[in-house]
Amino acid sequence: MSAQLIDGRAIAEQIHAETAATIQQLKTQHRLTPGLAVILVGENPASVAYVGMKDKMCARLGIHSEKIHLPASTSQGELLNLVNDLNFRSDIHGILVQSPLPDQISEDVIFAAIDPTKDVDGFHPLNVGKLALGDPTSFVPCTPAGVHELLIRCGITVEGAHVVVLGRSRIVGRPVSLILSQKARHANATVTVCHSRSRNLAAICRSADILIAAIGVPRFVKADMVRDGAVVIDVGINRVDGKLVGDVDFDAVKDKAGWITPVPGGVGPMTIAMLMHNTVLAAKRRHGLA
Ligand code: NDP
Repeated sequence: MSAQLIDGRAIAEQIHAETAATIQQLKTQHRLTPGLAVILVGENPASVAYVGMKDKMCARLGIHSEKIHLPASTSQGELLNLVNDLNFRSDIHGILVQSPLPDQISEDVIFAAIDPTKDVDGFHPLNVGKLALGDPTSFVPCTPAGVHELLIRCGITVEGAHVVVLGRSRIVGRPVSLILSQKARHANATVTVCHSRSRNLAAICRSADILIAAIGVPRFVKADMVRDGAVVIDVGINRVDGKLVGDVDFDAVKDKAGWITPVPGGVGPMTIAMLMHNTVLAAKRRHGLA
């Protein structure tokens, strides 16, 4: 393997240590305990696992966490009432509604009902708009923020680089393209966003200094789509024959890339690290400390 491995677990641990230190400071100097409410509707096994991990990480770092598990039959009105109650709670600084939601509930309606100052997932239209405008008071969605942080902490130059993003979803592809193309430090990239209607994908990918794959197609990115020495960030999490694999054919691409994230252990751990970070940021902003 010639590529350097980007160890998302180790980098996430660094961020957790920084977050835990900030929480300690908030508790001792300001008598402030950040609080996160995580709402799960139904029994989707992946969602149950994610919510459990978030809850455990809150406990580890010293965040007050409330896990609210509702039946799959919950109506949109019932969920709206709950979100509204949490919006008014002074001990809850962050609210996260785990997606996907059952069919009878519109994610758009629910995300828009969360107080934007508690929207630690960054999905409220106000925060999406602020991110598009480059307003630093937004909350940045956790997975794309995690990708950005990985690049920064590995010392990878984003400024002026050609970044190709595979995928334009609102939770990964679109926000990561906005973050990296901003007129800001550690950004200023030239970003190309590709999707299922893009033509000449392989050629576009080969022109990337940094290739970010977020499409949900197992091992889609092959070695002939990667330029020698390119940085390859694999956001994909796909289950194939009971095994987790990314959107990149890791075994083939690792000999071609300059840097590469593994799956698991790359972007995944960063998502939860940025969620904890955003929760602490929400608490600090609420109390005029950020
Ligand atoms: P979505 O299904 O919402 O979006 C997929 C995007 O990829 C769409 O824009 C789609 O295009 C595009 N796409 C799909 N197939 C192709 C193709 N063959 N060629 C080009 N573009 C294609 O997925 P998400 O963004 O939610 O997730 C992407 C992956 O990232 C998944 O594997 C998911 O599990 C993983 N993920 C990982 C997280 C983590 O913490 N590491 C967090 C969130 C997601 P179009 O718009 O035209 O339909």
